[in-house]
Amino acid sequence: MSTAALIVAAGRGARAAIAGGGPKQYALLGGLPLLERTLSAFLGHPGISVVMTVIHADDRDLYDCATRRLAAHTGAGKLLEPVIGGATRQASVRCGLEALATRAPASVLIHDAARPFVDADTIERVIAALGSSAGAIAAQPVADTLKREGAGGAIAGTVDRQGLWRAQTPQGFRFGAILAAHRRAAGEDRGNFTDDSAVAEWAGIPVALVAGSSRNVKITTAEDLAIADLLLTKPLEPRTGTGFDVHRFGPGDHVWLCGVKIPHDHGLVGHSDADAPLHALTDALLGTIGDGDIGQHFPPSDPTWKGAASSTFLADAARRIAERGGRITNVDVTILCEAPRVGPHRDAMRKAIADVLGLTLDRVGVKATTTETMGFTGRREGLAAMASATVLLPC
Ligand code: MG
Repeated sequence: MSTAALIVAAGRGARAAIAGGGPKQYALLGGLPLLERTLSAFLGHPGISVVMTVIHADDRDLYDCATRRLAAHTGAGKLLEPVIGGATRQASVRCGLEALATRAPASVLIHDAARPFVDADTIERVIAALGSSAGAIAAQPVADTLKREGAGGAIAGTVDRQGLWRAQTPQGFRFGAILAAHRRAAGEDRGNFTDDSAVAEWAGIPVALVAGSSRNVKITTAEDLAIADLLLTKPLEPRTGTGFDVHRFGPGDHVWLCGVKIPHDHGLVGHSDADAPLHALTDALLGTIGDGDIGQHFPPSDPTWKGAASSTFLADAARRIAERGGRITNVDVTILCEAPRVGPHRDAMRKAIADVLGLTLDRVGVKATTTETMGFTGRREGLAAMASATVLLPC
């Protein structure tokens, strides 16, 4: 039993004023085109053999753009060329059915592109119901109390909601029966049906109700789109990490601080380039995800890291955060030393860090202080650095 899916995406969305002005089925939802999400649900369902979309004649570029990523989808081979729809939803569905007719599927599931949250279980229930009924639609019992409006906006009465259902899609039918019903409706100039079940009911096709889903909402208005966006937004939690590092001064004519080479009357002693501020910052970043420290990932005993640029360590910590879906919001470094003077190099240091971490400059702080000639930094025996980092991580 082959089952085709026909996705109706030809509407102009007169009720929705989507930012950017385009039809809502191509609007971005959680960063992906709404139509891409809808198509993915059917392409990924094992019970669906082919998927065809009915689009508006003006929307071919939008369709191509919205389906570009689907080439990598496991079900991509099921996606047929789109077909151009008609002036009404009913006419568009008929265009799609006519285009599918040469393939003669046993049944067809007709679905609104504007219902991107349709789940595999709902699709499965409609397909299963077609085993014993020529038609079956996803629907939900009406939960709200219904009022009938009378004169002047006053309530004329309360409608008994017992036995009332809200029709959703997909709406499934034996293919030959629904094609014949649509042809007959067009022939008799009956073009005012609001869903395919109504066409089927008019034609005398029995249609069963099966459980839809509360999440299977139709995105009609800009507000619907905003609410749907929230459903897809993963909550994020802020994470903070700190780091501290010290390197001893030794012979040399320069030091590396925050990835910047600074002339000095000493060098810093270390296995890598001894860039203490970047080491502290790397530890701060690793701390946000509880992923050990710099010495664990880049042991001083490993000759690979002899003389290494510490930006390598910083980039590795950033990669570990990105792999967990995290985003660095800001980092802050304080360097403790009597010399060299940090001020003249501060902006170059901020830029070097920002470039490695992919941050804007306002998210990178570099500061310096002396310790008033006290302690090991005050005696110019070495240099210390501390850092903090804040990351937003999916909960
Ligand atoms: Mg170090």
